[in-house]
Amino acid sequence: MKMRVPFFDLKPQSLSLREELQSAINEVFESQQFIMGPQIQALEKTIANYCNTPYAIGVASGSDALFLAFMALGIGPGDEVIIPPFTFFATAGSVCRIGATPVFVDIDFQTYNIDPSKIEEKITKKTKAIMPVHLFGQCADMDPILKIAKSKQIYVIEDAAQALGSEYQPTTQPKGQRAGQMGDLGCFSFYPTKNLGAFGDAGMVVANDLPLAEKVRLLRVHGSQPKYYHKWIGVNSRLDTMQAAILLIKFKYLEKWTEARQRLANKYEELFKDILPVVDGFKLPVIQYKNRHIFNQYVIRVPKRDQLRKFLSEEGIGTDIYYPLPLHLQECFSFLNHRQGDFPVSEKAAEETLALPIFPELTKDQQEWVADRIKAFYKK
Ligand SMILES: *Cc1c(COP(=O)(O)O)cnc(C)c1O
Repeated sequence: MKMRVPFFDLKPQSLSLREELQSAINEVFESQQFIMGPQIQALEKTIANYCNTPYAIGVASGSDALFLAFMALGIGPGDEVIIPPFTFFATAGSVCRIGATPVFVDIDFQTYNIDPSKIEEKITKKTKAIMPVHLFGQCADMDPILKIAKSKQIYVIEDAAQALGSEYQPTTQPKGQRAGQMGDLGCFSFYPTKNLGAFGDAGMVVANDLPLAEKVRLLRVHGSQPKYYHKWIGVNSRLDTMQAAILLIKFKYLEKWTEARQRLANKYEELFKDILPVVDGFKLPVIQYKNRHIFNQYVIRVPKRDQLRKFLSEEGIGTDIYYPLPLHLQECFSFLNHRQGDFPVSEKAAEETLALPIFPELTKDQQEWVADRIKAFYKK
C-alpha cells in the first residue's frame, strides 16, 4: 500500500506541545516585554550549560551568530577565513559580509566535514580563522584543526548550526566534547528545521572566554553600554523574547528527540544492510571515532541520485539535497575565480548525496516504506 512520507513535518511536534507552548507565548503577551525579556537569559543559561561553556549569547539567527563571532574577533577586510565549500550558504556568506575572504578547503569523503589534512597548505599571513562546520549533526575532526590553529595562532569558530548536542570523541578520549565548546566561539541556529527549532529565526553564540562573550553581548545591541554610550559599532541582532520562551519549552524534549533521531538512523542502517553489497556506490552515513552524531540530517550517497529522487517523489516520499552546488561554484562567489574540479570531493558529494526523512515523529511504517521503495528502485 502506498504511503505518503514527508521529508520533514513540524506539525506533530508543535501540536503535541500545544498547551505548553501557547502558555509560554501567553506569558510573553501578558508581560509585553518583547525585547530582552527574562526568558532570554534563562535560555542562554540553559544552552551554555548544555554545551559545557560558561557563556552563551542569544542572537537573531545562526547567520548573525557567525557574523557577530567574526566581529567580536576583529576579523574584517584583508583577512582570510578557512571554510569548507560543502555547507549551507551562510558559512561563506558571513565571511564575505564581514569583509573578509573565504578560503575553501575540501571535505572528507566519508564524513562530509572539512578535511584537516588539507588545511595547512591554505594558511597564509592573512589567515585569521578556521571555521569548521559540523555538518548534518556530526562534529568535524577538531583535534587536528585545533592543533593547526594553535601552532599558527589563528582562531577557531565552530559553525555548529546543525549540531546542538553533538559530541566529538576521538577513540583515545574517555569523554566527548560538545559542539561549540571546542573553538574560540561556537555558533548555533534555531531555524525551525534545525533539531531545536524556534517559531522563526533565532540563534546563539557560545564562548569560553569572558571578555569575548561580553563583546558579542554588546555587539548584538549596537555595542552600547550603558545605553546610548557606544564602545563599538555593533548591530541589532537580539534574540526575540517570544522565541526564547518557545525554545525553553522545546529544550526540555531535545534529548528525547535526539535519541529518536539516533534510533531512526540505526533503523535505516538495519533496513539498508542488504542493499549495501548489491548496489555499488550506495553508502550510509559514517560515524567517525566515538562521536555523538545527532542526525540533524540523514544523508546517504547513492548512484543515479537524481533518478532515485524523482522516483521517490512519485511514490510520495520527500527527500532533499544538501547541497546541490558547492559554494566555490556559486555565481555570487565567482570573484574568487574557482572552477569545476577545484574541490572534487565536495563536487562529488553535491552530485551523489540525498537526505532522507528523519524527524522524531517519523513512524516505523513510514521508514520501512522509504527503504522498501529505495530497494525497489535499484531492482528495476
Ligand atoms: C542553518 C545554518 C546556518 C544559518 O542559520 P540561520 O539561523 O538560518 O541563519 C549556518 N550554517 C549552517 C551550517 C546551517 O545549517
